[in-house]
Amino acid sequence: MHVDLDYFYAQCEELRNPSLKGRPVAVCIYSGRTEDSGAVSTSNYEARKLGIKSGMPIAFAKRNASADTVFLRADLGHYDTVSDRIMNFLHTFSPVMEQASIDEAYLDLTGIVSSFDDAADVARRIKEGLLAGEGLTCSIGIGPNKLIAKMAAGVNKPDGLTVIRDDQVEDFLSPMPVGRLFGVGRVTEKKLNEEGIETIGQLRERAAPDTRRMFGSGMGGWLYNASRGIDEEPVMERKREQYGRIVTLKEDTRDSGILLDSARTLLQDVVEMVRKDGQAFKTVTFIGIMDDLSTRTKNRSMQEYTDELEPCMRMMPQLIAEFLGEHSRSLRRMGVKVSNLGEKKGQKMLSDFT
Ligand SMILES: [Mg+2]
Repeated sequence: MHVDLDYFYAQCEELRNPSLKGRPVAVCIYSGRTEDSGAVSTSNYEARKLGIKSGMPIAFAKRNASADTVFLRADLGHYDTVSDRIMNFLHTFSPVMEQASIDEAYLDLTGIVSSFDDAADVARRIKEGLLAGEGLTCSIGIGPNKLIAKMAAGVNKPDGLTVIRDDQVEDFLSPMPVGRLFGVGRVTEKKLNEEGIETIGQLRERAAPDTRRMFGSGMGGWLYNASRGIDEEPVMERKREQYGRIVTLKEDTRDSGILLDSARTLLQDVVEMVRKDGQAFKTVTFIGIMDDLSTRTKNRSMQEYTDELEPCMRMMPQLIAEFLGEHSRSLRRMGVKVSNLGEKKGQKMLSDFT
């Protein structure tokens, strides 16, 4: 199963500001050189109708915009927090989950369901749970493997649910342009088109030696299999590299007492997540999102791995003092992050040696 959260950044913004609903919204990453330099990261469907799409330069998008179009600065810390909650929720449906990006995950339902109908029931429960718990919609694809699940999730958006059984794979793929085959980039697509191959069905008609001649054995072999819907990639849990939490402060502040209290609350959450995963860490980072929305960080590492709150809190006052010494602006949001993950010394249980 592939779960894809719909127009995620823009949907997060609509949720915390319901007055945006129904208006075109473009969430942008500003590069900061001039007022409009940067690109659209995600747009909602109203904005897409105006031709405002992700990857588009902001200045260009503004030419397409209607008077009521809203351009927002991406608040990645907020989307991360929402994403973390959702990924934890999805994980309850299968112990084998691969988070593919901030808004996409694969779930392996092998051994959990015994039919595609049962899998569709799981998908409905996920969709209902996400809507009730977060107010968010997603699109879900179910297939015999990751490739087909991913492509199935993509054909019916937003709020879609598409099931492709083994015996439907070829009919599903055949009419699609080759560029839609997940993994085929622009260069490969162009090369295939030049060979007279426009659809995935046409690609399948080419013999293996033919695609190998065109693309070499690696890519050629992959194309041969993928055009047949063959994909053996397992759903693989990716190792996390960091744990963090960010919060918006009640008001912009430089008060070290307020920051320290807030750091303690956030660190309690973070340490709990780390422990639940059986991890430990060496580095603690204090994150400040300043009143001009710039992000600044200050970190410090410990000699030994830990999974406890106290060692972090011992160094936090100085970390905050140094941070405030280096930056003169007030903080609008603050966060903490732990990284440099590893295993805590001496945490092996006696049972590990029996
Ligand atoms: Mg998405």
